[in-house]
Amino acid sequence: MSGPQYPLDNLKDRNRSTRDQFTPESGDQELARIRFLAAATDELLDTSEMDDALRRLVQFTVPEVCDCACYAVPCRVTGTLRVEVFHHSDPDTVAAAQNLLERFPSRLDDAYGAGRVFRTGEPEILAATGDDLQRMVAVSDEHRIALQQLRLNALMYVPLMVRGEVVGVFGMAQCGSRVFDTADLQMAVSLARRASAVVDRARLYLAEQEARRRAEQSAARLRDLAHVTVKVLQHPLLDDTLRAVLEGVRGLLASDFASIMLTEVHAGQTRLRLRASVGLSEHARQNPMVPPGDGIAGRIAESHEPLIVDDVAAFDPDSPLIAEGVLSVVGVPLMADGKLLGVINAGTHTSHRYSAEDRAMLELLAARASSAIVRARLYEAERRARGYAERLQRVTAALSEAVTPDEVMSVVLEHAREALRARTSVMALTSEDGQSIVVTRVLGEPVLAPVEGSTFALTDGYPLADVVRERKALWLGDQDSPAGTGARAWAALPLEVEGRAVGALTVAFGEPHEFSEEDREFALAVARQAAQALERSRLFEAERDARREAVAGRSRAAFLADASAVLASTLDYRGTLEAVAHVAVPRLADWCAVDMLDGLPDEVRPGTHLGRLAEASTPPPGESATSPDGRDESHDDDAPARARPPTEVLARVMRRGRTAVHAITAKGEVRPVADTPPDAERSALPNLLVVPILAQGRTIGTISLCYTHSGRHYDDADRMLAEELASRTAVSLEQAWLYRAAQQANAAKAEFLGTISHELRTPLNAIIGYSDLLGEGISGPVNEKQVHQLDRVRTSARHLLLLIDETLAFARSETDKDPVLLEEVDLRALAREAASDFADEVAERGMVLEWKVDADMTVIYSDHAKVRQILRNLLSNATKFTQKGGVNLQVRGDGDAVALEVSDTGIGISAENLPRIFEPFWQVEQSRTRRVGGTGIGLSVARKYAEMLGGTLSVRSAPGKGSTFTLRLPRDMSGVM
Ligand code: ADP
Repeated sequence: MSGPQYPLDNLKDRNRSTRDQFTPESGDQELARIRFLAAATDELLDTSEMDDALRRLVQFTVPEVCDCACYAVPCRVTGTLRVEVFHHSDPDTVAAAQNLLERFPSRLDDAYGAGRVFRTGEPEILAATGDDLQRMVAVSDEHRIALQQLRLNALMYVPLMVRGEVVGVFGMAQCGSRVFDTADLQMAVSLARRASAVVDRARLYLAEQEARRRAEQSAARLRDLAHVTVKVLQHPLLDDTLRAVLEGVRGLLASDFASIMLTEVHAGQTRLRLRASVGLSEHARQNPMVPPGDGIAGRIAESHEPLIVDDVAAFDPDSPLIAEGVLSVVGVPLMADGKLLGVINAGTHTSHRYSAEDRAMLELLAARASSAIVRARLYEAERRARGYAERLQRVTAALSEAVTPDEVMSVVLEHAREALRARTSVMALTSEDGQSIVVTRVLGEPVLAPVEGSTFALTDGYPLADVVRERKALWLGDQDSPAGTGARAWAALPLEVEGRAVGALTVAFGEPHEFSEEDREFALAVARQAAQALERSRLFEAERDARREAVAGRSRAAFLADASAVLASTLDYRGTLEAVAHVAVPRLADWCAVDMLDGLPDEVRPGTHLGRLAEASTPPPGESATSPDGRDESHDDDAPARARPPTEVLARVMRRGRTAVHAITAKGEVRPVADTPPDAERSALPNLLVVPILAQGRTIGTISLCYTHSGRHYDDADRMLAEELASRTAVSLEQAWLYRAAQQANAAKAEFLGTISHELRTPLNAIIGYSDLLGEGISGPVNEKQVHQLDRVRTSARHLLLLIDETLAFARSETDKDPVLLEEVDLRALAREAASDFADEVAERGMVLEWKVDADMTVIYSDHAKVRQILRNLLSNATKFTQKGGVNLQVRGDGDAVALEVSDTGIGISAENLPRIFEPFWQVEQSRTRRVGGTGIGLSVARKYAEMLGGTLSVRSAPGKGSTFTLRLPRDMSGVM
């Protein structure tokens, strides 16, 4: 064979591509070569794909240029050239040849051939051929034998240059006897050049494609980011926001884990704390606080710069992420207003390197996340504030309904415990003397609080005491058993009212607890309200007690006033006892009985009987006090029978003189309260009282009080009331006795007076009669002097008779033995007689006594003796108390009445004494020198008689000017009676 030939006609007919067909038909090889190249160029330009172009090129050269061709690209990892396209003219040896190339690839550092061409960009035809060539390129005998079997004869290499850079090497081989000449090399170089244009174009296309893909990917990621942003922003709460951010990060960055750490300030130091994560184990989530500078997140927090870590273990051998299998991490800071909020990290388990684009994406997301976090925090703060306001509002509402200190404490303790999520809440109050505090109420777990009822002196250094003493809240977030309890954390707040602490409110926790600003504010607000409410409730209770006491006192006073009024209304012994029984029911009992000893207190002797003298009861509900037959059931013996005190109870009270309180059991048994079992049902409470009636130091009877059906029970106040009733009863009874005794004494006295008067009157009449006889000289002559002396005897005797009559009248008027005897009374005659009785005495004093009776007033219908007595008494006084001037008697008509007026010009009566002159035995104090006689009963008899006669006796008087007594009587007494 003499050089290569380049067929054109069948260029595109791969099936006919055999060496024979390439026999040139024209001698113009140059032209043929140009045509071949043009056709090859067309063929190459027909594709825009690089791989396709290279494949076409390789195939194109076989068999026209060589027997076997390949295209290889460098592999920097293995340092060899890796065959990408291979073609052989002999289908039988394709596999063997390809296998050989794979087993013994050219090395990039070979001094000749593909390696050198790749390095230098210079095409090369290996100088050796045939056996020499085989020996030259073989790396081993096996290799050489294989090459021999393939009958390798010549080798040629051409670089594929794109924009001045070698991107691959075309290798071409001749087997059998064919060799390469420079024309072949030029041909190959020309082909490679054309291929390079296609490859360049294909690479541009690819690059463009890649750029577009990347652009689309970026757009898609931005879309995803927008989507994530929407999701992130749609949650108002921080936790939800963070979760949405993390889900977004994981999706956008195709990560296995993502986490958000937020900054917190502890003891003035900023720390990062894991707030949310996805894809982390439970263990990794329990990370402690990370100070800025530590680990990946710490580094980011410190620098405020994003960070990509390809190898976590190399970056931070202590990273907890290593245990999680995380290999690479990208992290960015979360910033708001130039301040660090925290750090977002994302990581993978594969050694996938995060790109700058990933980082940029994370930064974009972080920016949105930061504002979402700020917003969520604001929202939560606002919500918390509102929550606290509402909680406080609830406390206020609940407190407004709590009335007693007990209720107030319950409300406060419940709300404080719940709102602060504490396990126990405690209320301690200062003692009354203000020297100590008493643990008053514990709600929740008792082990976290001092025992209810424990007392601490304010000075003994106990924390709670300090809080009260210093009026300063105490917050213990983490301490071993503060205040000697099982609590771990503890807050105590003073309860202050008007600048003094009335106690303390405490909440306790079993584990360390951080008191947030809101918690503190809330707790302080609750404490303030609690103090106010407690004070209010105390005042309320005090006021209520006072009011209750006042009402009870008023009701007791009213009862006693009633009782006194009822008891005062009678001076009758039995009537008094009836009154007692009736006044006690129903105010003090459903049933009441009064049992008395026979006889008066000083007559009570052993063996005297106790008798029931009065009884009263209310009917049980549903029954009326009066039975159908009209009988009064309040004295029905059967109705309250089961409630009656047994005789021995009454006897005991009589003996001891002390009140007995008894219970009536459900079975109707009466038992002393002391003997009643403590667990006895309600009906066994005191409902029977037996009170002694004590008079003059002795028990003279009992009042039994019983609640039979009203369901009421006796208390101390009732008992005192009953005893008071008994003592008033005793007083009343004594009055009744006294009255009866007085009445009896009075009757005896009147009888005595009557007898005496009568006994006096008889001899006095004899004296007067005999004096008259002697004076008239019937028994013999009497001289002037004797007549005068007899006149004196007569006057004194008459005066005495007057007194006796007056006394008799008084005595009679005190008894029932002084009846009114009606008859015609001739007033004119009466006036004349009375005037003449006093004429001497008046004349003796140098005065005048005048009398006048209206013509139509001469006769009335009345009691003659009584009218006469009245007139005499009035005239006697007028005469007695007048020294000069005179006495005047006038009788006038006054409608249906008649007025008898006795007036004088005497000493008169002062206004202050006027009301008293009608009282029996009362006299105006007279000066010793001018003492006038008298008994002090004249006016009292006169008035009594006037009233008996249906008339009146009145007086007008002025000291030194005289007095006028007016007796007004009905003309006809019978009409009045
Ligand atoms: P006596 O027996 O003392 O007169 P009376 O009952 O008749 O008792 O009167 C009571 C008192 O009233 C008298 O003591 C006197 O002080 C006063 N008295 C009665 N009538 C007159 C009068 N006409 N003028 C002044 N004082 C009178």
